[in-house]
Amino acid sequence: MRLIERIFLLEIFKGLALTLKKFLFAKPVTIQYPEKEKVKPAPGFRGRHALVRDPESGNPLCIACMRCVKVCPSKCIYIEYEVEPSLKKRKIIRYDIEAIRCVYCGYCEEICPVNAVVLTEVFEYLGFKREELYFTKEKLLQNWDEFIIQQKRPYLNPFWRPRGYPEKMLPVKKRTFTGV
Ligand code: SF4
Ligand code: SF4
Repeated sequence: MRLIERIFLLEIFKGLALTLKKFLFAKPVTIQYPEKEKVKPAPGFRGRHALVRDPESGNPLCIACMRCVKVCPSKCIYIEYEVEPSLKKRKIIRYDIEAIRCVYCGYCEEICPVNAVVLTEVFEYLGFKREELYFTKEKLLQNWDEFIIQQKRPYLNPFWRPRGYPEKMLPVKKRTFTGV
């Protein structure tokens, strides 16, 4: 049998037949990105950073608790705040993320008690200079506006309320949040 296979090069013809079959009939696994098709990222995809804007006041939801700064493994979040004397509340005056150093771990959005920071599902962004990937508070809010305007439904990031995690274990603001 092996001699016949050698004489008639059966394995080679089998291989060629398979190649021809795939070439003629198989559906391509690649897509014509970005000219014709775009892949929708999975919910919770960790892309461009944003600060969630309170739809009522227009201000960031951030309460300057500094948890994201402490948990960030890259140390690329910089926050400065002041205390409003009348309300005795913290108010951020600076919130910067140096995206070029971020490792997209999602710890900041997971730990935030008020769902104020998010890695949006926006993946098409780039910068040719370092400053273009250094997001200031204003830029982060703009990132949120650009992202949320494209959403056709209320947005809920899985990292804000991880699936299967008992709701009573979450901070109060995470239990009630249903999206913007
Ligand atoms: S995703 Fe991770 S590395 Fe990036 S800013 Fe958040 S905590 Fe830091
Ligand atoms: S964890 Fe949330 S509320 Fe606290 S400083 Fe970071 S973004 Fe603001």
